[in-house]
Amino acid sequence: MKIFEKSRKLDNVCYDVRGPVVEEADRMIEQGIAIMKLNIGNPAPFGLKAPDNIIHNMKANLNHAEGYSDSKGIHAAREAILKYCIKKEIPNVKLHHIYTGNGVSELITMSMQALLDDGDEILIPAPDYPLWTAAATLAGGNVVHYICDEQADWYPDIDDMRRKITDKTKAIVIINPNNPTGALYPREVLEEIADLARENGLIIFADEIYDRLVMDGQEHVSIASLTPDLMVVTFNGLSKSHMIAGFRAGWMCLSGDKSRAKGYIEGLNMLSSMRLCSNVPAQYIIQTALDNLQNTDEILLPGGRIYEQREYITNRLNSIPGITAVKPKAAFYIFPKIDTKRYQIEDDEKFVLDFLKEQHVLMVHGKGFHWEKPDHFRIVYLPSVEDLKLAMDKFELFLNGYKGT
Ligand code: PLP
Repeated sequence: MKIFEKSRKLDNVCYDVRGPVVEEADRMIEQGIAIMKLNIGNPAPFGLKAPDNIIHNMKANLNHAEGYSDSKGIHAAREAILKYCIKKEIPNVKLHHIYTGNGVSELITMSMQALLDDGDEILIPAPDYPLWTAAATLAGGNVVHYICDEQADWYPDIDDMRRKITDKTKAIVIINPNNPTGALYPREVLEEIADLARENGLIIFADEIYDRLVMDGQEHVSIASLTPDLMVVTFNGLSKSHMIAGFRAGWMCLSGDKSRAKGYIEGLNMLSSMRLCSNVPAQYIIQTALDNLQNTDEILLPGGRIYEQREYITNRLNSIPGITAVKPKAAFYIFPKIDTKRYQIEDDEKFVLDFLKEQHVLMVHGKGFHWEKPDHFRIVYLPSVEDLKLAMDKFELFLNGYKGT
């Protein structure tokens, strides 16, 4: 009898954000237990709704969206994305350098499949948004993680990055603003990364899906705007900024000097054609969405939901003995550190599982983001302050007397 195992390609692929801990949570839900989910960056279930004009626009265009589109996307969507690139000072982008995708996720996978041969190296941050490591590994690449430094507001450690570049390195991935740390990189840090890419002839992949969710009046700088002489692939989408993660609307654009990337672009075009096109109704709302970017202003300012939830979760976590958390500057994630000696934690997955089983609150362990030590976890602070308070009360109760081993 044939036994069907998962393919060996998947042996080293890990995507724990929806992994074993979540499976346990699902089992508990099936048994009728209510779980508070602080594990997925999906705004809609927390009452953060899509702007009305987006929903109206999608409905109004459904009749035009029945067929396949051009594999890179409809003209109006790519025109709007091009205008957005110009606004962000991303240089040398033409319509044919823009690809719409079923969320950024599809394009991350596609961009890795088109680039990496077995054994090629790619620099990815630790902690990371784990799809990057999973997609690069699945494509046959060797992922080399560079450290982001908690002591320095979670900025990438440039010396660590430099040390890890070899002859086999093809690219650097940066996630800015960052998931899971909520960091926002200043221009100087981006310049240093650009210099490294320049010195070593690397492609830069810049995941900027949170660029419109920045707080404290700070400015988001696209690294592509600093590197007209380099090939940069910038990723963005509407899942988070427009609270429509379910619609699957994302894009990537190729900017800067593409003279050394003709073959790579051929590969991207082939993979883009092979998936026919991205969700066409979602493409129809991109223009409206990018013409109306004020929808998040209110929630990000003092008194607004995301802002106040950030203030609450940062202060509350830092008031718990043995927990420290860098205040996020953007997005809606926080990546606190826990004193593993104090709580005798050796396995962070067990730690979040124990918390889930005892208090019915779901968080993700740091290893799920390729953070090596068992001393971090991620909280999504999308729930209301009231709900966050409830979750943190439970967390303190759980920690009180917790001895992991
Ligand atoms: N990139 C980052 C950093 C993310 O956090 C996410 C989702 O959480 C994605 C990409 C994927 O987003 P989507 O596929 O919904 O566009």
